[in-house]
Amino acid sequence: MPELPEVETIRTYLAGVLPNHAVVRVPHLDGRMVKMGTMAAELIRGRLPGLVVQSIGRRGKYLIIQFHDGSALVIHLGMSGRLVVEPTTTSWRTHTHMVLGLPGEAELRLVDPRRFGRIGYFLEFGEHTLKLGLEPFDRKFTGDYLRDRLSARRSSIKTLLLDQSLVAGLGNIYADEALFGARIHPLTEGAAISRQASRRLVGSIRRVLRVSIAHRGTSFSDYVDALGQPGENQAYLAVYGRTGDPCVRCGAPIQSMVIQSRTSHFCQQCQPMLEDLEG
Ligand SMILES: [Zn+2]
Repeated sequence: MPELPEVETIRTYLAGVLPNHAVVRVPHLDGRMVKMGTMAAELIRGRLPGLVVQSIGRRGKYLIIQFHDGSALVIHLGMSGRLVVEPTTTSWRTHTHMVLGLPGEAELRLVDPRRFGRIGYFLEFGEHTLKLGLEPFDRKFTGDYLRDRLSARRSSIKTLLLDQSLVAGLGNIYADEALFGARIHPLTEGAAISRQASRRLVGSIRRVLRVSIAHRGTSFSDYVDALGQPGENQAYLAVYGRTGDPCVRCGAPIQSMVIQSRTSHFCQQCQPMLEDLEG
């Protein structure tokens, strides 16, 4: 599923093509995809034409098309969503759920076979419209901050990293990679993570995200960028999807286990439970 690096890759591309262009028409918007905000699909379709794109933002895994009038169209790609820019002369793929007409005979199209994605339109969009935790690259996201937020939490750190209210943008891939980089077992309780380990984790989260953004995201089955190109970060993953392969650090086979219905990947040797080590 698209996580922060994949959404950031799409954002970067759209930021180069959409700003200062108006939405010229909305030929299609599936009401079942409108799962955020209060405005229904038919009203959104009537409202968007003529609005000029000011900027393309991102919060966590949400892509934000911000218009000059202060309103914003917010898109979450869910499990299988793709956002592509294509010429109007090419036909819509099956499972196309939103089409925004752009100047120059182009269209921004949302394709989502599993329809776990969601769209919302907000007349006024601000920092607190989406209830999310800090961005991983926010200066306020420090080891001390993370430690304080974890100190009373009994859940596993893997579960907590997936909770978008602690830090926004991590999904299964980068949570596993970040925990490997910080040498923390995914089942370690939040409260057992020391200040020092929290600092390692913050550094590791930023590192795995930065590396993946540089590779234009990770592609397994679904993800492609807005030009339809897959990312290249899958070749650089240390644990995710590598069950049974040798650990890049110690050579032990990578393990997997299901934590809260998501498969977690880790190295038993390199990622001890922290309560054993640091209390
Ligand atoms: Zn290892």
